Amino acid sequence: MDNITILSPGIYTYGAMLIGGVLRDAGHRVTLTRTATAPPAGSLLLMSLFSTQHLLDPEIRNLIRTHRAGGGTVYVGGPVSAAPEMVLGELAPDAVVVGEGEETVVRLVEEGVSDTLPGIAFLDGDQVIVTPPAPPAPIDRPLPLIPDDIGSQSIRGASAYIETHRGCIGGCTFCQVPRFFGRMIRSRPLADIIEEVEAFAARGATRLSVSGGTGSLYGSLDGEMDPEAFVALLRGMAGVMGPRNVSSPDIRVDCITDEVLDAIRQYTIGWVFFGIESGSDRVLRLMGKGVTVREVAEAVERCREHDLKVAGSFIVGYPGETERDYEATKDLIASLCLDDVFVSSAEPIPGTPLADLVVRTPREKNPAFVPHTGEYRPLDLTESEARCFDLMMHADMYRPQIRLITDEVYSAYLSEAKKQGRDIRAATDLILRYARSRE
Ligand code: SF4
Repeated sequence: MDNITILSPGIYTYGAMLIGGVLRDAGHRVTLTRTATAPPAGSLLLMSLFSTQHLLDPEIRNLIRTHRAGGGTVYVGGPVSAAPEMVLGELAPDAVVVGEGEETVVRLVEEGVSDTLPGIAFLDGDQVIVTPPAPPAPIDRPLPLIPDDIGSQSIRGASAYIETHRGCIGGCTFCQVPRFFGRMIRSRPLADIIEEVEAFAARGATRLSVSGGTGSLYGSLDGEMDPEAFVALLRGMAGVMGPRNVSSPDIRVDCITDEVLDAIRQYTIGWVFFGIESGSDRVLRLMGKGVTVREVAEAVERCREHDLKVAGSFIVGYPGETERDYEATKDLIASLCLDDVFVSSAEPIPGTPLADLVVRTPREKNPAFVPHTGEYRPLDLTESEARCFDLMMHADMYRPQIRLITDEVYSAYLSEAKKQGRDIRAATDLILRYARSRE
């Protein structure tokens, strides 16, 4: 039996809790933490990393270096494993668990690094060895390792986003989900999910959310939705948590039915969250969104008919987005009058088509780097940052209840837009560096 620390920086992700449960049931003593403190010297540290920024984080880099220097072992897994050579190059762990790691991680912990173990990457001298991919992990698995303080966590209001199914039928160019989990939907048995919801409730979780961008695809087969399965899922979750403590926010605009919307109203907090992204059909096509602005407007209208609140997320600064496209997004926000709006600049995630596009886009044409020359020029922003900042303020003017832009709100939006800009440029530089090293 090994003593294993799993670090999930900042938040307990579902993936980290899941791997914790798998290792616990394999007989290991597992501690799950969200703070980057040093584990016992010489022990095994597993890092579950979900953001490109983690690869650049000095605290994480330092922790790995000192832990290994003290005789400990470090394995890295999670969404960053989509680019294993980048993880090895930046963090220098003992190995990377590539892709769905539930089975691989147990073998890695018990057998150690080997080129006969599928689904890992490691360095042999300067050479990156990536073993053949492991088959997709089985969808039935043990209960996650749920920390005692899970109730203190709030991710958009939820203690945790539980995984009800894997995969997405969509092909959005900026999204990692279909690349990581595939485009076929694999749904977990309802009884297993409900048992898990009960376990979370017993540990003090205050609200649970259905994870992923495709909530209503739960139970679907061969791309065909099964609304009854989704209704049963929400009913079952609400039966344990109470409807005020369940949310099912993320849904594609082309994956709603009257039954689905009625169930969201009856068994959840009554919000729908759409990834709308843009008010320009041209940009939606560039993004591979697979829906039109018209379908977006119809879906929002339909939600309102079912008495639901609607939030939307938007992406600005996508390579190729023109001023005209951006104005179309502003017009759409004005006409939809959404209950809440989230704005982000286009972030290239390694392994996605957007990352490939960014590699092919000259810096002087990439809005993340082009200096803004319009009305916010004195603020020294890039075009992406200016649009991000502008759209956050614009959206506030078109909510059902207008939100005043105080000096405080103005500063918060400006600093958020700038932070996103910095992070995206750092991620882009990283992606470019590794793309060039492959040439
Ligand atoms: S629909 Fe959502 S989860 Fe699916 S590919 Fe698009 S953004 Fe990703």
